Amino acid sequence: MIIEPRTRGFICTTAHPTGCDENVRRMIKYVLENKNTSADAPKNVLVIGSSTGYGLASRVAAAFGYGAKTVGVAFEKPSVNGRPASTGWYNTAAFDKYASAAGLYAANVMGDAYSDAAKDAVCDIIRRDLGKIDLLVYSLAAPRRTMPDGETVSSVLKPVGEPYTSMSIDLRTHTLSEISLQPATDAEIADTIKVMGGDDWKRWMKRLSDEGLLADNFTTVAYSYIGPELTHAIYTNGTIGQAKRDLAESAKAIADAYGVRALVSVNKALVTQSSAAIPVVPLYISILFAEMKKRGTHEGVIEQMHRMMGKLYGDTPCELDGEGRLRMDDWEMEPELQNRISEIWGSLTNENLSEYADFAEYDSEFLKLFGFGVEGVDYAADVEPDLPVGHLTTL
Ligand code: NAD
Repeated sequence: MIIEPRTRGFICTTAHPTGCDENVRRMIKYVLENKNTSADAPKNVLVIGSSTGYGLASRVAAAFGYGAKTVGVAFEKPSVNGRPASTGWYNTAAFDKYASAAGLYAANVMGDAYSDAAKDAVCDIIRRDLGKIDLLVYSLAAPRRTMPDGETVSSVLKPVGEPYTSMSIDLRTHTLSEISLQPATDAEIADTIKVMGGDDWKRWMKRLSDEGLLADNFTTVAYSYIGPELTHAIYTNGTIGQAKRDLAESAKAIADAYGVRALVSVNKALVTQSSAAIPVVPLYISILFAEMKKRGTHEGVIEQMHRMMGKLYGDTPCELDGEGRLRMDDWEMEPELQNRISEIWGSLTNENLSEYADFAEYDSEFLKLFGFGVEGVDYAADVEPDLPVGHLTTL
């Protein structure tokens, strides 16, 4: 069949298998061409949230940068009744194919990472095939979580304390709009922390430790974001920021409880399925990318995660900030760049918008996430949507 992008708001409901394959191939190529050389490299790696965004890039960087064996956990849909599978499904199929071709071990678990069933399945795989793991990457971005007691709670993207009004962008018309959000209720804040905070990370750690599956030199890393003042009300000081604070506290609790290296890496704002859903962020990203490209400091997910692995494993110095966090957002938060962005932000109008914000680039990056608009792919060619994922355990 011919698969075309079908977008609804900030989601695309179709994905292209050949385009996703090409995206993964390019990530691998980047890592192979910029190989890290650490002798300290991770050997057995578990990535929770491994199919798209930062998790997929972490998996590629560990596997192809260091030759690590990887187990990936993700929540993705296969093709049903001739409809395309989800992006993360195709990405995982491609990752597995390239890993196998390179002689790299890969195991893929599709199901709810919050569940005990996922923890059971992953522990069985590690015990059977790897013995122990030396790196756990926790890269979940989820809209909801079914708690151990069976209750399902949802995360919300809302300000805390006060209503918030800001300039934003209407992604369909590329014109400025105003968004106003009411503050979250206490229950919404608590639920967002349950979904996006550190509770499930700690549950994974407890389970892996109880089962004796942590190697001596074990490291775990989870991802966060801080961003500039202009997104603070909706991000850092909003519900998601509260969850990220809980994640940071969980890193400390994990380090203390198990005597391991447990870190939060603060990553750069990038176009992913999750960030597209955050009000204001797409407008900020459109300006950020244009400015970072001018300065030659722009990175995508794979450049970020390859650089992070280099820091974690001694290819480059691993300096932490005052709160013990790895700052992969160092180039984004560079003061001169941020001053320039605030200046632009303050003077934006519909008339000068295209001068400062690169929406063509934003749209193209967004569609590429789903495998569309990828250079070298023949979109007129017939493709088989029902692609198997190798080494798969489905829960
Ligand atoms: P993403 O949407 O691209 O990836 C999310 C991953 O989680 C996917 O692999 C998905 O399958 C998996 N997932 C979701 N629910 C699941 C479930 N119940 N069980 C198993 N897997 C599940 O997201 P992303 O943007 O790469 O975000 C990953 C992390 O990085 C998040 O913690 C996010 O806050 C953080 N981060 C993102 C940005 C950004 O700009 N995108 C910046 C800094 C930090």
